[in-house]
Amino acid sequence: MFCPKCRYEYVAGIKECPGCREALVEELAQDHQPAQNSESKLKPGYSKPVTVFATADAGLLAVVKSILDGAGIKYFARNELIQGILPVQSGAFNSLVEIQVRPEDADDARALLDVKGV
Ligand SMILES: [Zn+2]
Repeated sequence: MFCPKCRYEYVAGIKECPGCREALVEELAQDHQPAQNSESKLKPGYSKPVTVFATADAGLLAVVKSILDGAGIKYFARNELIQGILPVQSGAFNSLVEIQVRPEDADDARALLDVKGV
Protein backbone atom coordinates (compact mmCIF):
# COMPACT_ATOMS: atom_id res chain seq x y z
CA MET A 1 0.00 0.00 0.00
CA PHE A 2 1.28 3.45 -0.92
CA CYS A 3 0.52 6.98 0.15
CA PRO A 4 -0.34 8.96 -3.01
CA LYS A 5 0.99 12.13 -1.41
CA CYS A 6 4.40 11.25 0.07
CA ARG A 7 4.77 8.01 -1.97
CA TYR A 8 5.86 6.10 1.10
CA GLU A 9 5.14 2.39 1.05
CA TYR A 10 3.21 0.83 3.91
CA VAL A 11 2.54 -2.78 4.80
CA ALA A 12 -0.81 -4.27 3.87
CA GLY A 13 -3.52 -3.55 6.44
CA ILE A 14 -2.70 0.11 6.95
CA LYS A 15 -5.39 2.24 5.32
CA GLU A 16 -4.17 5.75 5.92
CA CYS A 17 -0.78 7.48 5.80
CA PRO A 18 0.06 8.49 9.37
CA GLY A 19 1.99 11.48 8.06
CA CYS A 20 -0.38 12.97 5.50
CA ARG A 21 -3.72 11.47 6.54
CA GLU A 22 -4.18 10.36 2.95
CA ALA A 23 -6.02 7.16 2.12
CA LEU A 24 -3.47 4.64 0.85
CA VAL A 25 -3.72 3.23 -2.67
CA GLU A 26 -2.72 -0.17 -4.06
CA GLU A 27 -0.28 1.23 -6.60
CA LEU A 28 1.20 4.59 -7.36
CA ALA A 29 0.65 6.04 -10.80
CA GLN A 30 3.78 5.62 -12.90
CA ASP A 31 4.52 9.22 -13.59
CA HIS A 32 8.19 8.78 -14.40
CA GLN A 33 10.05 6.28 -16.55
CA PRO A 34 12.64 4.00 -15.01
CA ALA A 35 16.13 5.42 -15.47
CA GLN A 36 17.10 2.79 -17.98
CA ASN A 37 18.84 5.15 -20.34
CA SER A 38 20.66 7.07 -17.67
CA GLU A 39 23.95 6.29 -19.37
CA SER A 40 22.84 7.96 -22.53
CA LYS A 41 24.92 10.97 -23.29
CA LEU A 42 23.48 11.46 -26.74
CA LYS A 43 20.55 13.70 -27.35
CA PRO A 44 17.51 12.05 -28.91
CA GLY A 45 17.02 12.93 -32.53
CA TYR A 46 20.74 13.01 -33.14
CA SER A 47 22.34 11.30 -36.09
CA LYS A 48 22.01 7.54 -35.95
CA PRO A 49 24.54 6.07 -33.51
CA VAL A 50 27.05 3.48 -34.69
CA THR A 51 27.79 0.38 -32.66
CA VAL A 52 31.56 0.15 -32.20
CA PHE A 53 31.66 -2.50 -29.53
CA ALA A 54 29.41 -5.11 -27.97
CA THR A 55 30.00 -7.30 -24.96
CA ALA A 56 28.17 -9.12 -22.19
CA ASP A 57 31.26 -8.80 -19.98
CA ALA A 58 30.68 -6.07 -17.38
CA GLY A 59 34.40 -5.78 -16.63
CA LEU A 60 35.32 -5.31 -20.26
CA LEU A 61 32.46 -2.86 -20.65
CA ALA A 62 33.89 -0.74 -17.83
CA VAL A 63 37.28 -0.70 -19.58
CA VAL A 64 35.73 0.36 -22.87
CA LYS A 65 33.73 3.09 -21.18
CA SER A 66 36.79 4.45 -19.38
CA ILE A 67 38.71 4.53 -22.67
CA LEU A 68 35.94 6.47 -24.37
CA ASP A 69 35.51 8.75 -21.36
CA GLY A 70 39.24 9.41 -21.36
CA ALA A 71 39.14 10.30 -25.05
CA GLY A 72 36.14 12.56 -24.56
CA ILE A 73 34.01 10.51 -26.93
CA LYS A 74 30.33 10.57 -26.12
CA TYR A 75 28.80 7.14 -26.17
CA PHE A 76 25.56 5.37 -25.49
CA ALA A 77 25.37 1.95 -23.84
CA ARG A 78 22.45 0.02 -25.25
CA ASN A 79 21.27 -3.14 -23.53
CA GLU A 80 20.08 -5.99 -25.62
CA LEU A 81 18.76 -9.20 -24.18
CA ILE A 82 20.15 -12.29 -25.78
CA GLN A 83 16.94 -14.19 -26.03
CA GLY A 84 16.96 -17.89 -26.56
CA ILE A 85 20.74 -18.20 -26.38
CA LEU A 86 21.44 -18.03 -22.67
CA PRO A 87 19.22 -19.44 -19.94
CA VAL A 88 16.81 -16.91 -18.48
CA GLN A 89 18.12 -17.72 -15.00
CA SER A 90 21.37 -15.92 -15.65
CA GLY A 91 19.44 -12.70 -15.18
CA ALA A 92 21.53 -9.55 -15.45
CA PHE A 93 24.38 -11.38 -17.14
CA ASN A 94 21.99 -12.29 -19.89
CA SER A 95 22.37 -9.00 -21.62
CA LEU A 96 24.66 -7.88 -24.35
CA VAL A 97 25.59 -4.24 -24.10
CA GLU A 98 26.30 -2.35 -27.28
CA ILE A 99 28.48 0.71 -27.13
CA GLN A 100 27.24 3.19 -29.66
CA VAL A 101 28.81 6.47 -30.65
CA ARG A 102 27.99 9.24 -33.08
CA PRO A 103 28.95 8.43 -36.67
CA GLU A 104 31.65 11.12 -36.66
CA ASP A 105 33.25 9.51 -33.59
CA ALA A 106 33.01 5.93 -34.82
CA ASP A 107 36.45 5.78 -36.47
CA ASP A 108 38.16 7.36 -33.47
CA ALA A 109 36.40 5.04 -31.08
CA ARG A 110 37.29 1.94 -33.11
CA ALA A 111 40.93 3.05 -33.37
CA LEU A 112 41.14 3.64 -29.62
CA LEU A 113 39.63 0.28 -28.80
CA ASP A 114 41.97 -1.46 -31.26
CA VAL A 115 45.02 0.14 -29.69
CA LYS A 116 43.98 -0.95 -26.23
CA GLY A 117 43.39 -4.45 -27.51
CA VAL A 118 39.83 -4.82 -26.29
ZN1 LIG B 1 1.96 10.19 3.21
